[in-house]
Amino acid sequence: MASPPLSEPAKPHALLIPYPAQGHVNPFLKLAKALHARGFHVTFVHTEYNHGRLLRARGAGAFDVAGAEGLRFETIPDGLPPSGLDATQDIWALCEATRRTGPAAVRALVERLDRTDGVPPVSCVVADGAMGYAVHVAKEMGLPAYLFFTHSACGFVAYLNFDQLVMRGYVPFKDESCFTNGYLDTPVDWMGGMLPGARLRDLPTFIRTTDPDDTMLTIIIKQCELDAPVADGILLNTFDDLERRALDATRARLPNTFTVGPLGPDVYPPSYLPSLTSSLWRDDERCAAWLDGSGFGAASVVYVNFGSITVVTSEQMDEFAWGLAASGCPFLWVVRPDMVRDGGAAGSGWALPEGFAEAVGARGLTVGWCDQEAVLEHPATGGFLSHCGWNSTLESLRAGVPLLCWPFFSEQVTNARYACVEWGVGLEMPRDVGRAQVEAAVRELMAADDGRGAAARRRAAEWKEKAKAAVAPGGSSRDNLERFVQEIASRAA
Ligand code: UDP
Repeated sequence: MASPPLSEPAKPHALLIPYPAQGHVNPFLKLAKALHARGFHVTFVHTEYNHGRLLRARGAGAFDVAGAEGLRFETIPDGLPPSGLDATQDIWALCEATRRTGPAAVRALVERLDRTDGVPPVSCVVADGAMGYAVHVAKEMGLPAYLFFTHSACGFVAYLNFDQLVMRGYVPFKDESCFTNGYLDTPVDWMGGMLPGARLRDLPTFIRTTDPDDTMLTIIIKQCELDAPVADGILLNTFDDLERRALDATRARLPNTFTVGPLGPDVYPPSYLPSLTSSLWRDDERCAAWLDGSGFGAASVVYVNFGSITVVTSEQMDEFAWGLAASGCPFLWVVRPDMVRDGGAAGSGWALPEGFAEAVGARGLTVGWCDQEAVLEHPATGGFLSHCGWNSTLESLRAGVPLLCWPFFSEQVTNARYACVEWGVGLEMPRDVGRAQVEAAVRELMAADDGRGAAARRRAAEWKEKAKAAVAPGGSSRDNLERFVQEIASRAA
């Protein structure tokens, strides 16, 4: 008698829930590709708002990619009224709204997926650290749940200490004078995992509040105290060699920590689903041709980009413009359409100053958005004037490009401090930077002499090798990724 056919075991099915901002959906999509390439069914959750933006930026077929079977996209509401602007939504309001409306939406999504023919049951949830509510939903539904914090370990370890800052009386600040009276220089070197000599000003800016009930402060403390310990493990997009001290301190609190970075094309097959991207803005395709065809020498172009959230004033833009012009250095400058805010709405109409185009000629290209990783990997790119968002910092390290650091907020100030002091790849720029300082900083970073720019270049080249080794077979991040994959696959079986 023929034995009955064995039913195929269901594929493991990971539900990925990034926080709805560019710096979060990018590493999440890389993780999605890495899991999909390892045989997982993956459901990637965008907010309805961002899904709409992706369709506008990428076209109607944005998600119908050949070879992406089993990598599906679903949406949940973000809880905010529709915004007419592409400007990154108010992150404070977004954090509150997603925490309020997310739990019911995620529960309903899991239930719907589990009823859908041809879709294996959801077997694990990987939620953004900023979407920690999803861990509690997953646990209530009996599912394994992991948190992916998409920022640096040095930022994360500072967040882990936010409760201590409150308990020890550093935060909330006594009054507004603390912002200007030198209080920010108070040492906090008792904090395990931070770099020696760390000061309050090196910690993520969310501590800079006089309000004991400040939204970001309390949400972050909740993430670290209530969400992270409930998760079965946490993921960080970094590598052990880079952030050993911060990671030791993190693992002492959260032992099942997987360092899987830099996530990217090293951890999936070559050219894996290349058209499946998560840029919320449309790339300006002139960048590659301009870098290729302008006859620039190797590592001679400075790339300027302040990420997806930074907003600046017209005056600051003018200072950068004239500083770049005076530097004499070729530059590629990304000016997001919603980047300038002069008290009113974003996108209030800043234009390149009169005479600027004539002053720089073909030496400068200004675009609204670009494929940043491609620009950083281009041989002509030799320096990155950056706000030091974690993805930008890591992408720069992976490409071996040194940094000029002009952090804006959150843990960008921590990343910048590490880049300059610990990793040796960056030169720090003052917050109130004028055109003369921009010019001098660009000249110093790009100078051919054996000064601080050359030292940063050498260190960046070393970190590039270490970053690539971490994600190569046998590297620490690759091992962690495979261990994570095995752990979640075994729990699905
Ligand atoms: N990015 C891009 N093109 C741009 C600007 C940014 O592709 O013109 C990407 C960049 O590669 C990175 C992300 O957007 O992956 C920005 O994340 P980051 O953490 O650096 O900063 P945030 O936007 O969160 O402040």
